[in-house]
Amino acid sequence: MSAGRYAWMADALCAQVGGDQWTEGLAGSGSQAAKRICSDCPVITECDQHRAALERHDGTQLRGVWGGRTQNQRRQQLGEAA
Ligand code: SF4
Repeated sequence: MSAGRYAWMADALCAQVGGDQWTEGLAGSGSQAAKRICSDCPVITECDQHRAALERHDGTQLRGVWGGRTQNQRRQQLGEAA
């Protein structure tokens, strides 16, 4: 991992807060708490771009909350854009 390429992660609120609310219960209270924190995160755009790059590279959708959206929300928005 290049420090410069991933420097934005130093400002990620999830890394500062900790916990597993970003990875469990995609429709549950954990994801709601995660999305609230994401909404104040200064690197929400970089986070979503990173997720999209990982998904393109791996050819699969990531689970959990990234950039303030659950996997289901991202799927729905992809469907609406298609
Ligand atoms: S927007 Fe991304 S980096 Fe920021 S708190 Fe949410 S999941 Fe973490």
